[in-house]
Amino acid sequence: MDTSKSSRVKPGDDLDVVIVGAGFSGLYALYHVREMGFSVLGYDDGGDVGGTWYWNRYPGARVDNESVEYSFSFSPEVEQEWSWSERYASQPELLRYFDFVANKYDLRKDFQFNTQIKSVTFSESTNLWTLRTDHGDAVSARFVILATGILSAPKQLDFPGLDTFGGNSYYTSRWPHEPVDFSGQGVGVIGTGSTGVQLIPHVAKVARHLTVFQRTPSYAVPACNRPVDPEFQDRVKAQYAEVRRRESLAFQGGVIKNDEITFGLPQTSALSVSAEEREAEYERCWNSANFTLYWSYNDVLTDRAANETVAEFVRAKIRAKVDDPAVAELLIPTEYAIMTKRLCAEIGYYETYNRDNVSLVSVKDTPIEAITHTGVQVAGRKYELDSLIFATGFDAMTGAVTNIDIEGREGRQIREEWATHGPRTYLGLMSNGFPNLFYVSGPSSPAALFAPIMLAEFQIRWIVARMQEMHSDPKRTLEPTTAAEQRWIEQSKEAADRTLLPQTDSWYMGANIPGKPRVIQAYMGGFVNYQHLCADAVANGSKDFV
Ligand code: NAP
Repeated sequence: MDTSKSSRVKPGDDLDVVIVGAGFSGLYALYHVREMGFSVLGYDDGGDVGGTWYWNRYPGARVDNESVEYSFSFSPEVEQEWSWSERYASQPELLRYFDFVANKYDLRKDFQFNTQIKSVTFSESTNLWTLRTDHGDAVSARFVILATGILSAPKQLDFPGLDTFGGNSYYTSRWPHEPVDFSGQGVGVIGTGSTGVQLIPHVAKVARHLTVFQRTPSYAVPACNRPVDPEFQDRVKAQYAEVRRRESLAFQGGVIKNDEITFGLPQTSALSVSAEEREAEYERCWNSANFTLYWSYNDVLTDRAANETVAEFVRAKIRAKVDDPAVAELLIPTEYAIMTKRLCAEIGYYETYNRDNVSLVSVKDTPIEAITHTGVQVAGRKYELDSLIFATGFDAMTGAVTNIDIEGREGRQIREEWATHGPRTYLGLMSNGFPNLFYVSGPSSPAALFAPIMLAEFQIRWIVARMQEMHSDPKRTLEPTTAAEQRWIEQSKEAADRTLLPQTDSWYMGANIPGKPRVIQAYMGGFVNYQHLCADAVANGSKDFV
């Protein structure tokens, strides 16, 4: 591979492409765009490559997709040269992987770090986008790729007294780079989603006392992490192209069960087998890999009765792990179907509540009244804390886009257009009125529900192919029609409505952010279908695009 190619950028040049974000998507976008001979610059407000893994460096952070799958497929060299040490890579190992890839292809040289893009404005006279940074400088480009991530804009909090806390405050999504020592401290954690579930056992081991403030309990399953078996890794490396190919044909990403690479959907209904057979299957899933319950039976995400059999299985597991029955009942979700919020992968989470130095405070019926100078106040009671950790989630899917002032044709603002009825995109890739501006893993793409890196690579190839088609004619622009957008919104809704997801308030539905329109944020029709639809969109170019 020729790594010597670099963009032809000189100060003041109009660029072909600007990429926002240096996570998995941004890195591959820069690599591919550069390979195709476009001039390109990338920006990231982080200090280095890594995206979500640059920011979320809290204790216990690790991915919950198999490392051998959660990796780039564009480079057979990287696939062969890199070896994973853990089945589910920890955040430090993921950053080492980013460093390895960035060095191998000299990707950092075309990124500007510690730089936030504040506005992106389209000029109808030049057909160029102007991007302004938080340093006050500006750059112009014909194409913009927003590789800004689906879970990168932290949820804005409005607890009364938030700024009055006199101790140390930590946000998991903006965790300090230097080690944080909680030993001897009274620590509070707000939030028990995937992040809280990973973080809490680590803090409990060192804090004098840990108080967990839980609003909604999560369903969490064992992470089943372990060192990667070298023999298994060799086997994957020997057939990586085939593994990726089969993964791309799977409905929602690959499934590796007990180091067996198996893909595809189950054909059996949970309600068609005996209770004993079902229990045995759930037990096998429970012990094999973190998310295999999703693939146990074909109706666990579509039929409430089938789903309830999984939920009951997990509830019994939680009861068995937690010593105090009253605490166990608080930790057991009963009000929503399992897997309609993202399933959490845990290592010692439930056992943490058996420790003498840990207490659980439910803030469901009695919400947090205030953050005070000395701690947190709930139902008139003051919890005194030295440190307070917010694991409160993200303005998922749309937040990273709407946080930028994006102005398209005729002064149209993305933030305003999405405020009332939710995001409007075609295939999660583009929006009407915003020509030549592309999203990777954008709103209403399968991003939240499919192998994220494989999806990003696919989308980036699609995007760059469109840029190549337009390259020879500088006047050409591309944007979807409003009809294509509307059709996509309806298709996404129909796909979601075939599942139980819309019944639950989750970030998939935008429901974790007060005031955000409650619509499905992701396409649930499966990746195979999605690939066909993206191909069809091109074939129907004159119909779906202006
Ligand atoms: P999350 O799932 O949205 O969880 C946020 C938590 O904060 C919830 O328990 C929420 O309670 C609570 N919260 C928010 N506002 C609150 C308030 N005002 N008062 C009390 N509690 C409040 O966010 P997350 O845990 O950061 O995870 C987000 C997603 O990131 C995950 O679903 C997953 O996709 C990804 N992630 C993945 C990994 C991994 O790979 N292992 C790790 C971390 C995150 P409610 O539920 O009641 O709103």
